Amino acid sequence: MLKKLIQSLRSPLRRSKHPRSTPVVIGHAKHSMRRAQISRNAINVVERLQKAGYQAYLVGGCVRDLMLGLKPKDFDVATSATPEQVRAEFRNARVIGRRFKLVHVHFGREIIEVATFRANHPQGDDEEDNHLSSRNESGRILRDNVYGSLEDDAQRRDLTINALYYDPSTEHVLDYAHGAQDIQNRQISMIGDPTQRYQEDPVRMLRAIRFAAKLDFDIEKHTAEPIRPLAHLLRDIPSARLFEEVLKLFLGGYAEFTFDLLVEYDLLAPLFPASAAALKNDPQYAGNLMRLALASTDKRIAEGRPVTPAFLFAAMLWPALPARVAQQQARGLPPIPAMQEAAQSLITEQCQHTAIPKRFSMPIREIWDMQERLPRRHGKRADLLLENPRFRAGYDFLLLREDAGENLGGLGDWWTDYQDASDSQRRDMIRDLSDKDDSAAGPRKKRRGGSRRRRGAKSEGTPPPAE
Ligand code: ATP
Ligand code: MG
Repeated sequence: MLKKLIQSLRSPLRRSKHPRSTPVVIGHAKHSMRRAQISRNAINVVERLQKAGYQAYLVGGCVRDLMLGLKPKDFDVATSATPEQVRAEFRNARVIGRRFKLVHVHFGREIIEVATFRANHPQGDDEEDNHLSSRNESGRILRDNVYGSLEDDAQRRDLTINALYYDPSTEHVLDYAHGAQDIQNRQISMIGDPTQRYQEDPVRMLRAIRFAAKLDFDIEKHTAEPIRPLAHLLRDIPSARLFEEVLKLFLGGYAEFTFDLLVEYDLLAPLFPASAAALKNDPQYAGNLMRLALASTDKRIAEGRPVTPAFLFAAMLWPALPARVAQQQARGLPPIPAMQEAAQSLITEQCQHTAIPKRFSMPIREIWDMQERLPRRHGKRADLLLENPRFRAGYDFLLLREDAGENLGGLGDWWTDYQDASDSQRRDMIRDLSDKDDSAAGPRKKRRGGSRRRRGAKSEGTPPPAE
């Protein structure tokens, strides 16, 4: 009993990855970073600041990725110079951000982001600050704009692997937080006490997951443990910031694996509550649909093809629609208005968690609307649909639904054939359709044989498009 008590008192300290006040210096021969792999512009920025008498290093993702033999997405610089001092050194520099000032140094299309060393906002100093509290009642940091030393800067970073500093002039890597060791062991560890770090900024839980998926690293035990119990803290994060994070999670090229980790760590529900509920109700279909959409996003990114968040959000939310349509119908709304109403309310509800800008919410609705129209192919409708700018997205989405296990009576194949067919073949295809089924909705009868979920997702009898 006593032993357990002593252990529980000691363990938070033992498990903390407290940064050292003096770094381990990793010499050129002991790491794999080479100047030749680094953006010339980034090196110039660092050297120019150093010549002006400031400390300056490459830091964060670029050092981590180069130590792993990966190509960095961009190059970030950390310096002792204030944003104004940085701007004074470069003609092509712009200070951005009001609360959290950064400097962007522009070189054609490349932007080198320069941040001044920052310190953790000390806990418990709120009383001295009468105007603005720096933390809320759950410990979340509301302000993060205190400048500090290099040591402070290392301490306030999230993961050990993100707190490595590279000096291009000496080619040394400075390691304050066992980052090199974690890279070696392929492990994600939070700096400091993970619970406190997540309370300060719950988005760090998503970052831990994101890098675990991207790098295929394990999440170290003490870094992993508090995530499930603290997952709910994400509900307090402004929805615009969560939208940005969701894009990073799902458009980073490792969305399918990221999704699995989000589910495993109970982080899907605070981001997509309706989708998480649908996944629970129908793990097979909803899980298939979401994972297929994410896997195809990963594939497109790997092939350098464009991706749109609208398609992803349409897929993430689709399995949550039927229950809402049913609710609206139970309130007495006919099928079409029930569907429209359900789509609207689902998007509005989702926006409270992850803001969805209008330029994406419109196409989401259009992709869903297309699902109503694609079964209705009689007369001139099929040709009109083909000309619709949303046809492609709607058709891709239809195939996704079929791949996920929905039985739409061969509708996807029909559209695949129709696109390749000659004019006369197209006329035959429409005629055959009329021969088989004289209702406007084409495969409606077959769909009626399907599950409740499928029927619920439809608003049968949608009027033909207005075009
Ligand atoms: P990538 O750009 O490849 O996604 P990155 O590690 O550079 O990865 P950024 O979001 O660009 O990620 O952040 C730059 C650095 O800032 C990180 O490496 C990390 O050290 C620090 N950082 C970012 N977000 C946080 C956070 N919420 N809490 C603490 N440190 C953070
Ligand atoms: Mg970065």
